[in-house]
Amino acid sequence: MIRAKKSLGQNFLIDKKIINKIVNTVNIQNKTILEIGPGTGNLTSSILVQKPKKVFVIEKDNALANQLRLTFKDKITVFNEDILKFNEASLSKDKLIVFGNLPYNISTEILTKWILGFDENCWFDHLILMFQKEVADRINAKFNTSNYGRLSILSDWKLKVKKKFDIDPASFSPRPKIESSLLFFTPKKDFYNINSKNLEFITRIFFNHRRKMLKKPYNQIFNGNKIILDKLKIDLTLRPQNLDTETYFKITKEYENLQS
Ligand code: SAH
Repeated sequence: MIRAKKSLGQNFLIDKKIINKIVNTVNIQNKTILEIGPGTGNLTSSILVQKPKKVFVIEKDNALANQLRLTFKDKITVFNEDILKFNEASLSKDKLIVFGNLPYNISTEILTKWILGFDENCWFDHLILMFQKEVADRINAKFNTSNYGRLSILSDWKLKVKKKFDIDPASFSPRPKIESSLLFFTPKKDFYNINSKNLEFITRIFFNHRRKMLKKPYNQIFNGNKIILDKLKIDLTLRPQNLDTETYFKITKEYENLQS
């Protein structure tokens, strides 16, 4: 009997219907799959039914990793490692489809690592990831809404994001306290050619005071420069959440032009 470890965010999916719904969000026949945090292998089994070409899994828990090797034998390749330290981009020549029921305390860190880690030639075709609902809503938020912020802008920079469905705590064992959501990501072929550090810097300054007018952060960055303001066509009496993502990419570009 495997006891769930809280420290590793172990909430195992037990609802067969939900598991199949997750796997069926995309055709994986003959595709190369990477699963993060396979746990007891419930999702892994459903993945294998769809006849993928190859399945890699990364599981940090030693006991679970050993169990997975015994259960699935040569049907999967198990890495007993920490995803935060793993170099997944060089796993395969094939583009990967990634499934992950991630531990919620590291889910945004992993997503950020993956967003920052690719340029034109992305190593994955899709990411199909579970988040706590509240975080999923922030990732997926549009401008002019209260959930919109740094995470939405960073995600929208390089990824197309689609919310698939919510998942009830009862679908897991042990039950988490919160609702979850499944997000489906596809890398964009074209995105603004800006430095991620600068984008993070700009959004940090702008979203430092969510309820204050844009005037303050604008002046802090551009020293009141009117020419740039005319070019960007921003109304400085608005709030940070009123600017769409593209405007933030343009602001970052202007900031970079000033540095060079
Ligand atoms: N996908 C499984 C289990 C989800 S629970 C299911 O749906 O049934 C999260 C899983 O991630 C656990 O198995 C946990 O051991 C693993 N995990 C936690 N931190 C990890 C890390 N840093 N790298 C890889 N796996 C991790």
